[in-house]
Amino acid sequence: MQDTTGEGGVTALAAAGLERRYGRRAIGVWSAPGRVNLIGEHTDYNDGFVFPFAIDHRTAVALGDRDDRVVRVSSAFAPEPVSIHLDELVPESVSGWSAYPLGVVWALGRFGADLAHVRGVDLHLESDVPVGAGLSSSAAIESAVALALDEHWGLGFDRPTLAKVGRLAENRVVGAPTGILDQSASLLAQADAGVFIDCRSLDAEVVPLHFAEAGLAILVVDTRVEHAHATGGYAARRASCEAGALALGVSSLRDLGPADLERAQRVLDDETFRRVRHILTENQRVLDTVRALHERGPRAIGGYLDASHVSMRDDFEISVPELDLAVEVAQRSGAVGARMTGGGFGGSAIALIDAARVDKTRSAVLSAFADAGFTTPKIFTVAPSQGARRDR
Ligand code: ADP
Ligand code: MG
Repeated sequence: MQDTTGEGGVTALAAAGLERRYGRRAIGVWSAPGRVNLIGEHTDYNDGFVFPFAIDHRTAVALGDRDDRVVRVSSAFAPEPVSIHLDELVPESVSGWSAYPLGVVWALGRFGADLAHVRGVDLHLESDVPVGAGLSSSAAIESAVALALDEHWGLGFDRPTLAKVGRLAENRVVGAPTGILDQSASLLAQADAGVFIDCRSLDAEVVPLHFAEAGLAILVVDTRVEHAHATGGYAARRASCEAGALALGVSSLRDLGPADLERAQRVLDDETFRRVRHILTENQRVLDTVRALHERGPRAIGGYLDASHVSMRDDFEISVPELDLAVEVAQRSGAVGARMTGGGFGGSAIALIDAARVDKTRSAVLSAFADAGFTTPKIFTVAPSQGARRDR
């Protein structure tokens, strides 16, 4: 497995970058991974079930301490550091990419950190998580920064709380109405395993995946169709789910199951019904996938992945032609299962395939995209990896 935090990886780059930009040594480096959601899409903000794993692409944050109350953040991304005094940190005072790390600082305060009595820090970020590809580069930043500051400032928050801190930063400071999936995956995942999360209780069960032992690989097709969750379709889907729950008399769609679909169809307009049907059936598919893995192993989960894609394409309507094509071609090339992953409207598709078929499937997807006149996708395999941690 590739280890992006090794020598020459993002951990070393972050430490070196901090020294170069600020002229001070890092007192620590923390990193957190991006994630692939194996199954359970848009179920998180409906208090439902998700089943992601962390990938072997990480964001590292190097931390230097300061004597004053200024926080500076920089990234290989951006030419100039962004600097703010802790007394002036409110959601309205930050924007752009720095809203992710500075949003976490603000959100830690909202969860009870005594920001009036901490000293400032210098933070430098390096990452090899593809950005805007549906692999959650945003949660990788939030989780790395949250873990680093929790330890540096001695806050003592547990990981589920740090996940909520990241979500609050994303919701209130970045302005994206996303759920708890990404941060939970990044903070709670373990190597070679998925993490089955109940988004209502935040109870998490680590479930071994055994893909490699079964001769399987996860292929990611990054369509390079960029999505933006702060605007548009994501918020509209969330609103439909809330409207559906209200009309059906429940506080969230988690309280309903496939047995309620008949009533839902009678009560709701067609579009809202299809949105609700996706959530109800998707929750069931997550449970079925976890059970199938436990009882029958990874080759038994393909049908659920395929069905999840159909539900997102037809009922929730969050796919795009590029994602549909990637999934179709992977399936035609003999994938065990395939689906789009992440919030939709672009981003990546995943295929669970025989490791021996990786090259053939890659070529087939590339030529299908060329024939369709689509932008050349980025195609790579990922390995289920460890969640956020201190690297040095
Ligand atoms: P995703 O999480 O799927 O990658 P998002 O739109 O949620 O997509 O988050 C992407 C945004 O996160 C980028 O536009 C940028 O603002 C920020 N970001 C991601 N990685 C970095 C990084 N290494 N340095 C600075 N900003 C980053
Ligand atoms: Mg994101």
